[in-house]
Amino acid sequence: MKTSIHRPSQALVDLSAIHFNIEQLKAHLPQDVEKWAVVKANAYGHGAVAVSSYIDDIVDGFCVSNIDEALELREGGLDKKILILGVSAIEAVPLAIQHKITLTVASLEWLDLLEASSLSLQGLVVHLKVDSGMGRIGFRDSQPLQEAINRLQSAGVQVEGIFTHFATADEADASKFEEQLACFKGILAELDALPPIIHASNSATSLWHADTVMNAVRLGDIIYGLNPSGSVLELPYEIKPALSLVSELVHVKEVKAGADVGYGATYTADEGQFIGTIPLGYADGWTRDMQGFDVLINGQRCPIVGRVSMDQITVRLPEKYPLGTPVVFIGKSGTESISATDVAEKRGTINYEVVCLISDRVPRIYKN
Ligand SMILES: *Cc1c(COP(=O)(O)O)cnc(C)c1O
Repeated sequence: MKTSIHRPSQALVDLSAIHFNIEQLKAHLPQDVEKWAVVKANAYGHGAVAVSSYIDDIVDGFCVSNIDEALELREGGLDKKILILGVSAIEAVPLAIQHKITLTVASLEWLDLLEASSLSLQGLVVHLKVDSGMGRIGFRDSQPLQEAINRLQSAGVQVEGIFTHFATADEADASKFEEQLACFKGILAELDALPPIIHASNSATSLWHADTVMNAVRLGDIIYGLNPSGSVLELPYEIKPALSLVSELVHVKEVKAGADVGYGATYTADEGQFIGTIPLGYADGWTRDMQGFDVLINGQRCPIVGRVSMDQITVRLPEKYPLGTPVVFIGKSGTESISATDVAEKRGTINYEVVCLISDRVPRIYKN
């Protein structure tokens, strides 16, 4: 989608907040543990190259979800280690070797395809994924894992790491987490030898199970200043949200009692009132279920009335405001604030989804 730069709707990204959050995590994690920033999905909507470049000096590497995201970082001038967390197409292997991108190996079936391709594997670096209970990708037993290691090594592939991923590290009940941890440790204990880097911690594990970090941590949601548990668990130290979503009033009118607003005429003014229109809609990631939620204008909460359209929303104003009056969707206005978690709770989802869904139509504007 074309980024619409001649429109007041913008995602403001405070890069220094991301820097601060990483420094906070580093201060609370063992020094010799590698800190990798997870910048998949355009750095959770914050802008992959801009974020990665800004924090390049204070992290040990980056994690992305696929080869295209990895190549975007390389094209953006980033030289540090990049690990692709998902399963890659076999056709991507030469690109990974050429651009020094680390791939994840998650099954013997994938290895069969790799061997059948007769590609040259010289220079390929991989991490093996263990499925300790997440149930998405990875080896579930030590025997096929050991076989994969042997086959990779005899093909000249460098097996640099083994990792797993926790399904419930953001929950108050730690029983499933403990089960997964025991499963992972059990599988590792049955291997002939361990590669240099063993990692299991995402943001939630790094925050609330800091005693279980291994050689590296994969930090996603938390570096953007978002609580991975939503509002379930409290953050153990200060973290600053990096993204605000803002716009302006582009149209303001007074309507009489009985006037309808928006598609489906779902809102009818019950008295004379002022209605403001803002150029942001579901095509920007402000989904239709935001009807009934608030925006902030001049430090006051103003309800979204009528349906959210593709490109516009309408809000009820307490008084007649001039065109160009600032509007906050996520962020602060006076003493009021709306967080990505507040938005997520209105939608019955998680803050991850709220920031990822802010579409390419919204320009990312960087502070610092
Ligand atoms: C996305 C992802 C992460 C980062 O998770 P956060 O909760 O955002 O820290 C870490 N590891 C894997 C395998 C992932 O897919």
